[in-house]
Parts: sequence; C-alpha cells; structure tokens
Amino acid sequence: MQTEEPSLRIAPAGRGDRDALAALLVETVAHNGSVGFMHPLPLEEARAFWAGALEAAERGERVVLCAWRGGQLLGTGSLALVQAPSQPHRAELTKVMTATAARGLGVGAALVRALEQAARERGRRLITLDASLVEGASGFYRRLGYHVAGDIPEYAYKPLGGLGATRVFWKLLDAREPPAAAADPATDERFMRHALALAERAEQEYDEVPVGAVLVSPDGEVVGAGWNRNIRDHDPSAHAEIVAMRQGGARLGNHRLVGCTLYVTLEPCAMCAMAMVHARIARVVYAATDPKTGAAGSVFDLLADPRHNHRVAVTGGVLAAEAGTRLTNYFRRKRGKPPLT
Ligand SMILES: [Zn+2]
Repeated sequence: MQTEEPSLRIAPAGRGDRDALAALLVETVAHNGSVGFMHPLPLEEARAFWAGALEAAERGERVVLCAWRGGQLLGTGSLALVQAPSQPHRAELTKVMTATAARGLGVGAALVRALEQAARERGRRLITLDASLVEGASGFYRRLGYHVAGDIPEYAYKPLGGLGATRVFWKLLDAREPPAAAADPATDERFMRHALALAERAEQEYDEVPVGAVLVSPDGEVVGAGWNRNIRDHDPSAHAEIVAMRQGGARLGNHRLVGCTLYVTLEPCAMCAMAMVHARIARVVYAATDPKTGAAGSVFDLLADPRHNHRVAVTGGVLAAEAGTRLTNYFRRKRGKPPLT
C-alpha cells in the first residue's frame, strides 16, 4: 500500500486550535524566539494570549493563520489589522512562528504569502513588521520582497535574557513587480553567466576584484559590459556596474538607460545603486549579497527608497554561490590562503 505524504494546509485558526497554538508559542519562547514573551512562559498564559487573539480575529481586527500537515501544527502567523482611522490600508505582520521540527520546509514563507493574500482581501496594501536581528529573520523577509526601514538597538529583551536589536520592515503589496518577460529565470541565469565570465576575466587577466556586469536593453540585447577596473585605471569609480553603464550610455547615445536591466555578480554598492537610479535602470539582478557595503538591502536599501522618484526592481541571489565562492577565493588568495572549493 502506498502512503501519501500529507501536504501543507494553511487555514484560519478557530477556537479549537487554541491549545495547539499555545504549545507552539511556549516552544518558540523556550527556543529564544522573540515573539513578545519571556521564558519560561506558563502554558496558561500562552492559552490566554491566544484566546484574546482569536477573539480579536472574530471581531475582524486580526487574522490568525495556522499551517498544518496531517494533524500537526507546523506554524502560525498573524496579521493585526491596524485600527487607526488614518491607516485603513496598513496591517502589521506579527507572531510568525514555525515549529522547530518544521524548519527549512518553507512553512514560514507559505504563511507570509497567505497572510499577504488575506491583507489584500481586506484592502490592506501596506505591511509592516519588526523582526529580531539575531535570528536570521532579516534574509527571510528580504527574500519575500520586504524592505528594511532601519534598525533599532536595545528594542526588546530576548526570552532567555539580554536586550536585542530589531529590524523594521515594510512592503507595499501593490508595488509594481518587474515585467514578467524580463524576470524569466532562465534569461536571468544566462546573462548572469555572461557577467560571471567577465568577473573571471577581471581576476585572471588584471588581478582585479572579480566582479562583472552586463547591461541588457529592453529588447534583450547586450549594450554594455564591464568588470572592476579600479586598480588598473587608478579610478575609484570604476566598478563593474559603472563601466557597463558608461558603455551602454555611449552605445545608446543617452544618459538615461530606460527599461534596461543590469546584471552584476555582487550586490551593488551605494555609488553604483545611485548611478542606477540616476540612469533610470528598470531592474538590477545580482548574484552574491554584500553584507559589508551592499546597497540593495544588505546595508542600505537605495534602489527601493521611496524618497527617490525612480525605483529599481531588484532580484538577488541568481548564481549567488558561484559568484560568492569566486570572490571569497580571490581574497583568500590575496591573504596567501588556499581556495575553498
Ligand atoms: Zn559599486
């Protein structure tokens, strides 16, 4: 007999789910998950919290979703529908928890997407949230299209003690998505391979930091290409992206590169990100993230800053492992260390 693996089911929580939700909350707090409570959290307190939350859901002030597999609760997430009359369009994403045994199965992402859909259905377009900085939640929300508003130090005590910082995120649900034709993953990968080949050239032929960039016109034609030339050209501004955009501008006879997509093997820095905004680049696709100077969300989030009158759509992580290993090995070689494979 064949047994079928039960699939993930996401459904609104009812009163009957209170005890399962309480057990998940106690477990999350015991594992130092920042969800507003201190460890040890008595089961009775957890039950009381969910009783209140489920009543708020019945009044239409909150949405509580549960992720189930078979009869097992794998995760939960809530949406607080902001009640201020001036913010009928905002909802706060909160109490997103995944059972320890269900980590890495995509439960959290599925819950967030379902909560976004619930927000849309209730006319809420702006989602805000805060996430503790020490839990790696930052990358999770960024992959789901959330922008970083900023960090607040000493925001809340961790369940097991010690003050922790928090990162505040936002997402506009009706924000324009990149054009579907340009977001085809196979096309992205093909142009990223081209950029990676340029990065390799930068290192092999010129001993420059291996970063490559390719500028593609709205018709899918390569109109600019470049790699880092700082050392060779004695030019602090000669990053791969700048070199590719200069070439593209000359080729197109225009300082505006409207509708163009820029592929680059490393998350752009602030200088390059601002040049992309000035050039009206439609979209940037990058490979490896740069936790030290990245300006597409890692350190700064310039490409999506609502204060600019032009915003650049961003796709990160295309062939990231390959680009990241190349960069790591370049710097290892400079320090006389053997390469990682
Ligand atoms: Zn740069």
